[in-house]
Amino acid sequence: MTLRVFNVLGREKQDFIPVEPGRVNMYVCGPTVQDYAHIGHAKTYANFDIIVRWLRYSGWDVLYVQNITDVGHLLDSGEDRILKKARQLAAGPMQIVEQYTRAYFEDMDALGVERPDISPRASGHIPEQIAMIESLLEKGYAYVVDGNVYFDVRSYAEYGKLSNRRLDEQEAGRREDIREEKRNPEDFALWKKAEPEHILRWNSPWGVGFPGWHIECSAMSGKYLGQTFDIHGGGIDNIFPHNECEIAQSEAAHGAPFANYWLLTGTLLVPDADGIPVKMSKSLGNFLTLRDALKRWRAEAIRMFMFSAHYSNPVVFHEEALDSALRGWERLYGAARLVRTVLRGAPEGDAGNAVLAEVEKVRADFAAAMDDDFNAPIALSALQTFTREVNTLLNSGAEVGRAVLEQVDAVYRDLGGRVLGLIPEDEAAGGSAVREEGLIRLLVDLRQTARANRDWATSDRIRDDLAALGVVLEDRSDGTVWKVN
Ligand SMILES: [Zn+2]
Repeated sequence: MTLRVFNVLGREKQDFIPVEPGRVNMYVCGPTVQDYAHIGHAKTYANFDIIVRWLRYSGWDVLYVQNITDVGHLLDSGEDRILKKARQLAAGPMQIVEQYTRAYFEDMDALGVERPDISPRASGHIPEQIAMIESLLEKGYAYVVDGNVYFDVRSYAEYGKLSNRRLDEQEAGRREDIREEKRNPEDFALWKKAEPEHILRWNSPWGVGFPGWHIECSAMSGKYLGQTFDIHGGGIDNIFPHNECEIAQSEAAHGAPFANYWLLTGTLLVPDADGIPVKMSKSLGNFLTLRDALKRWRAEAIRMFMFSAHYSNPVVFHEEALDSALRGWERLYGAARLVRTVLRGAPEGDAGNAVLAEVEKVRADFAAAMDDDFNAPIALSALQTFTREVNTLLNSGAEVGRAVLEQVDAVYRDLGGRVLGLIPEDEAAGGSAVREEGLIRLLVDLRQTARANRDWATSDRIRDDLAALGVVLEDRSDGTVWKVN
């Protein structure tokens, strides 16, 4: 089946044709490591996680690069985000960078996001950025003013082609703090002169300074993936100016196309005081860190929630949506676990083989959805439909042979586990989680029985002892749910 993707560059769905047959070179703009990742960031990386997982599962050889921004990402005030945090915490900037880089990987690991193949840091690629700026100067795309180097946007005719912004429109909406020294208000900094208080600084042909934010992605993607590569990803919020500047710098410096396909994820929104969904962001102060979200909900529930919409669409975060994602996951995982349990004592043979048609169907439907611009919600719903069939079969009391159950089990391992990261791949990896879930469920059921018998002492003891272990029960109209703190 042909893989098709919606290319933001050109705004249409296209057949995916790689630069090199069988191979996908992919770059995704990574985090600025100034603080803990919030769940808005997590959506982007979880979305790309299943894109990479699906590509690999369906046989592509993927090289996935995602950078770490540890210098040059400035606030509107002109202050470097990392330096601001370092000042607030009275710590060195590289201490901040190290602390939040580690935290980023810990949190993404906990969410089940597989690590990129290469996580290059901007501060470790200063020579590459300087070389690229030199090449832009040589070719007449950039100019130096008093230790600062700017990209001349009017020298690159296609500036604005990704975000569909024309220069005259941009001028109308420009910010007030335009520096007089620039030739055009839209020109952006490739290199900035370091003021005396700026600690992150390097020598360059233009004096002591530091690189602009955009140039790092051009320099590092070029270094690891080549001048022209397949997929560039990121959050839609960075389409302008960041992604647009990356294209201009790379294509001007190399004289070759930059990324062939642009895949951008939709934003995570949260209802404001009036219930209107607004962007979750650090500057708005309405954010929930992934770290805190993982204390409330298990990783698989958060993943289910993230996959409930197509990656390019926004999702609105609210607690009920997460709780419902958790219940959805429990149904999926419950069926997968039941299959494994039944499999252990199953008779040889292919009794119940009528369900193999469903196995074939779910694999085909899942693949069709994922090959159609990585449509995870449709793929997930195919798995949920399959799960209803499996439950019907297993609850019917009919004998099901090992040969059949193994194929059903493989669907959960492959599609639910390897691709969606919702079902542990093997008993060794998932064994203790399986046992823990089972034991908690057993205690919750025993407590239900005690409550039905008005045995409040037993009921309270189960609740309190579980709470002491960090498992908090919550009684609702539709049953008891639990959270592991
Ligand atoms: Zn970037």
